[in-house]
Amino acid sequence: MIDSYRHKGLRRALVKKLKAKGIQDERVLEAINTVPRHFFLDTAFLEKSYEDIAFPIEEGQTISQPYTVAFQTQLLEVDRGDKILEIGTGSGYQCCILLELGATVFTIEYNQRLSHKARALLHKMGYRPKFICGDGSKGLAAFAPFDKILVTAGAPIVPQTLKDQLKVGGYLVIPVGDHKSQKMLRITRLSETEYEEESFQNFKFVPLLGEYGWK
Ligand code: SAM
Repeated sequence: MIDSYRHKGLRRALVKKLKAKGIQDERVLEAINTVPRHFFLDTAFLEKSYEDIAFPIEEGQTISQPYTVAFQTQLLEVDRGDKILEIGTGSGYQCCILLELGATVFTIEYNQRLSHKARALLHKMGYRPKFICGDGSKGLAAFAPFDKILVTAGAPIVPQTLKDQLKVGGYLVIPVGDHKSQKMLRITRLSETEYEEESFQNFKFVPLLGEYGWK
């Protein structure tokens, strides 16, 4: 795993592009500038690692577009020390961005092979989130409540169980829609019983599977 001056230069150019597209949170941009995205990609795509596009990883899944990662992370408003649940570990890239922001991350992945691969890579890179294999559509009740919950797959609905696992004042960021396109939502828990929902632009994610996902 080599992170050369060329890779660092390509990362700086990507950060500039994300800024031009409207990402303003300097801490998020700095995290993207820090994490070597080319470590997460299949060798076939290495040359394009710092283009603002999603790529296939194994098991028919994807590593999200950097703009999408930046947009979701910006919405989370991560504070140092936040306890975050990420649903959809995938390659592990988004998890590293959250860790760079000083969060404690629980990352859950449905596909066991992907989870094991991400664990091996992140450990090699020196990152130590808590990895869980299972159905993240149900959240992670054993470790709830969370300051923030991030869903990185497209959901048909907002699962109530995820809202229930937020701390008061916490955010749930989740793309919701059909198979073609999903609206990015940010749900804030205002009190034990009240939530506020904000709606942002549309994205395209692979489907969230499991009990409260697509069957
Ligand atoms: N965050 C990832 C990254 O940085 O590479 C990208 C995630 S990819 C767009 C979506 C992931 O969600 C896939 O790896 C998929 O297997 C996973 N997934 C789908 N349904 C899930 C569920 N119910 N629980 C946990 N993971 C799920």
